Amino acid sequence: MSHFSLDPDTPLSSIRGVGPARARALAEAGYLALRDLLFHVPQRYEDRREVQPVADAAAGASFTFRGRLSDLRRIFTRRRGFTLVRGVLEDGSGRLPVVWLNRPYLTNQVTEGEEYVLHGSVREARGGLELLNPSCERADDVREAGFVPVYPAAGSVGPAALGRIFTAVLEQVDLLKIPETLPEELLRRHDLPPLGESLQALHQPGADADPVALNQRRTPAHRRLIYGELFDLQVRLALLREREKGESRNQRYRIDTRLRRVLKEIPPFPLTAGQERVLEEILADLTAAHPMRRLLQGDVGSGKTIVAALALAAALESGFQGAFMAPTELLAEQHYANLERLLGRHYKLALLTGSAAEAERLRRQLASGEAQLAVGTHALIQETVEFRRLGLAVIDEQHRFGVTQRALLREKGDRPDLLVMTATPIPRSLALTAYGDLPVSTLDEMPPGRSPVRTEVVAARGWPEIYRRLREAVEAGARAYVVAPLIEEGGRLAAASLAGVEEKVREALAGFPIAVMHGRMPAAERERTMRAFAAGEVRVLVATTVIEVGVDVPEATWMVIESAERFGLAQLHQLRGRVGRSSAPATCIALHGRLSETARRRLEIFASTNDGFVIAEEDLAIRGPGDLLGTRQAGLPALRAARLPDDWDWLVKARDDAREMLGRLDEGELAALGKAVQEVEG
Ligand code: ADP
Ligand code: MG
Repeated sequence: MSHFSLDPDTPLSSIRGVGPARARALAEAGYLALRDLLFHVPQRYEDRREVQPVADAAAGASFTFRGRLSDLRRIFTRRRGFTLVRGVLEDGSGRLPVVWLNRPYLTNQVTEGEEYVLHGSVREARGGLELLNPSCERADDVREAGFVPVYPAAGSVGPAALGRIFTAVLEQVDLLKIPETLPEELLRRHDLPPLGESLQALHQPGADADPVALNQRRTPAHRRLIYGELFDLQVRLALLREREKGESRNQRYRIDTRLRRVLKEIPPFPLTAGQERVLEEILADLTAAHPMRRLLQGDVGSGKTIVAALALAAALESGFQGAFMAPTELLAEQHYANLERLLGRHYKLALLTGSAAEAERLRRQLASGEAQLAVGTHALIQETVEFRRLGLAVIDEQHRFGVTQRALLREKGDRPDLLVMTATPIPRSLALTAYGDLPVSTLDEMPPGRSPVRTEVVAARGWPEIYRRLREAVEAGARAYVVAPLIEEGGRLAAASLAGVEEKVREALAGFPIAVMHGRMPAAERERTMRAFAAGEVRVLVATTVIEVGVDVPEATWMVIESAERFGLAQLHQLRGRVGRSSAPATCIALHGRLSETARRRLEIFASTNDGFVIAEEDLAIRGPGDLLGTRQAGLPALRAARLPDDWDWLVKARDDAREMLGRLDEGELAALGKAVQEVEG
């Protein structure tokens, strides 16, 4: 260890051992400074404290051996793209065959006759014991024997590259000198070791560490990092909340009997009890002393749009303008048509998308106040868009937008009310993380008369039968989606491509009007296609995930998802939400190729439930740690050490501590702290 130690704020790009390409890849994943990297906790540790003699090898356990390799050779297998390297390890006590899968370059990297340290598990193969896929380091390069951390990938930087980066970085940092960030009082309260000590215990564990606790994330050092990260997050959330509480509302809504009458007239159907309740929650917010910031969550098809439309009507009736922002043009156009139907009799609407030809005229109408409600995409937050008096902004599918975009929309008015909507239900464990105490309204029932979608998971070879059934359904009048993943030209994966699927569909459903839709089509063409599908002129729509979000054609009752193993659980659920939007029974079939263990689990859960909340919790459990439905999107730091929902208890402790600490500050101190955080976050 040198006397010199890097500052935790040192940019990764200026640290020796982190090349420019790696620094860029890390930056993309949110790792900018040394501090970010140090909070990247190893996923597991290899126990290399003892080098064992090859003669002790036994099936089913991991070993560290030190010896010489011979007989290295590449084996060509019949499966394309699959290579085997075999060799023999010898250490004086015995000989053991070694096999590496898919490491074709290993034969160039390893020199026969030199000494290496190998670590891996031994298994019983046909010809006897063998060492499978061991790590392999030149004996001279191996640091002190001990625990070797194995890091989870950071964005596109894999474990092996990260291992090398850490080796280089840790040579330049004295972890014990990293300054403490938590108040002494809190460390004592929860019996936690200081930060520097904790970082050292995690990145450079001593030979006396407890391997079980290390691998189960249960050491005091783990607790220190997990708690510290969650405390930091909760302090920021509390400060954001304080800042908003300080704002007083600008616009006064008139929520009177006249408005009540208007609200009764708008919906073409009776509202569900859930919709009534949520509407009341929103109306109460609109008359409160502070501007509204409410999250409306409800599963796909639960009927969020009408609630938003009524809230907007309250704003428009009171003489304010409204804005409704959606993530895609397709969706904005659909919402516009829908809102025009609901509100067009009473108010003047304008559609603003990137491709709107008359944008100039519409912008003038908004600025003058002539247009009362602007519906659109990101086009709404362009600098050139001005409102005369924006009262209420609604953001649909808010998880598709970043905080900046949300903030920009709010800045179009003077402290307007904000309603954000999402069909990706937020698990309880995340609501507290990503949104702090943002009030949440939940639509937890479907409009009446929906029959749940019947889901079947079928191996790809079963496709002829599925397409036969699809044809039968279409012959009987059904409208169907066939979804295919978008494969880039030259993509190596053997998944169904859009073009391949189109061909299949045209053959299986010859004689029926079929159309194709994907994100790279011009918006006008997409809109035309969508309209034709909604009108029934197109009966089968072959599409990529452009239809994932919010597309509403109640007559569509069939969906086939090709290469379903390539989609995430939440995404599958969103896709399925495109059918089952009327009282007619609906079917969704997930066709899949070869399944990994997690893909199998995803599809099982997908088939077993239609409940978006169950899906969201399971999705969280499967995807495990990482950014998830992310704190990053909420403009908060990503969680690196903490895992939710596993660390739920620590999250609650952190929240209570953060409140208590901030509660002790006076208003001036709070304001100063809030400002500092805001500046850091930009
Ligand atoms: P989402 O919550 O996914 O945005 P939508 O607002 O698009 O759902 O509503 C889904 C469908 O249900 C739409 O066709 C809408 O007209 C219909 N719908 C919404 N509320 C009701 C209701 N109370 N009764 C009958 N149909 C409704
Ligand atoms: Mg919607």
